[in-house]
Amino acid sequence: MEKKANLLEDSNLCVKNKGEIKINEKVRIGGDQILVMAGPCAVESEEQLMATAEGVKSSGAHLLRGGAFKPRTSPYSFQGLKKEGLKLLQKAKDITGLPVITEILSENEIELVAETADILQVGTRNMHNFALLRELGRINKPILLKRGFAATIKEWLSSAEYILQEGNTDVILCERGIRTHDNYLRNTLDLNAVVAAKSMSNLPVVVDPSHGTGDSKYVPAMAKAAVASGADGLLIEVHNSPNMALCDGSQSLDIEQFEGLICDLKALSRVLDRKI
Ligand code: PEP
Ligand code: MN
Repeated sequence: MEKKANLLEDSNLCVKNKGEIKINEKVRIGGDQILVMAGPCAVESEEQLMATAEGVKSSGAHLLRGGAFKPRTSPYSFQGLKKEGLKLLQKAKDITGLPVITEILSENEIELVAETADILQVGTRNMHNFALLRELGRINKPILLKRGFAATIKEWLSSAEYILQEGNTDVILCERGIRTHDNYLRNTLDLNAVVAAKSMSNLPVVVDPSHGTGDSKYVPAMAKAAVASGADGLLIEVHNSPNMALCDGSQSLDIEQFEGLICDLKALSRVLDRKI
């Protein structure tokens, strides 16, 4: 792969990554494939997870997302089902055959989470947790690194370096919206960052329009804009019954809305000469 010009000194971003990451025997990210990861913000119950997993699978998602360990702003909010949530994710994975992405909050849980997760997600709040990033650099599983909500593009890529430096080159970058002067929506989805990160590195870049907007009615438009900007994939919150969600219901698509979005994305990806 051609070495791209990059702005970081002593960088591994371009040298080591091959531009394509293998998630399992069937699923890859990078190249002409656009990868769709979908599911609830949090794993809440067996019924909720199974219904959502089946729904996103039949609509065409490639991976199931779902948080078992939840990093909530308030300690009084639902913190996730933790170990129980991982067991449910494993069950959903066995039933649907979909690989799973779930968040890792601490070094202490890496081994446990990696038993079920096909991709370990580092959330926006942990982008600066260098001890965690270093540990994740020593495992043999892809890492999705979300951009900190107040991080510059260079700081985000520097965090990726912490993982790469330890030997794990399977890093996927995820733009999920940043905090700006505007607070009409939950965040400002920065699609400049997609184009910039792709020009600065060979790492796949995905977009999370759910946290990027905070409102399900804006998610489809921004998901399409993300793909048009060159994103290699999407991380989308979908719930079988968004009104009942314990976490992020207002930004979650229902199954029908998700199915409609996939249909639009298929048409768009044909124009862009990519696959979904
Ligand atoms: C999530 O994906 O559910 C999440 C907590 O995301 P973020 O870290 O972007 O807030
Ligand atoms: Mn969420």
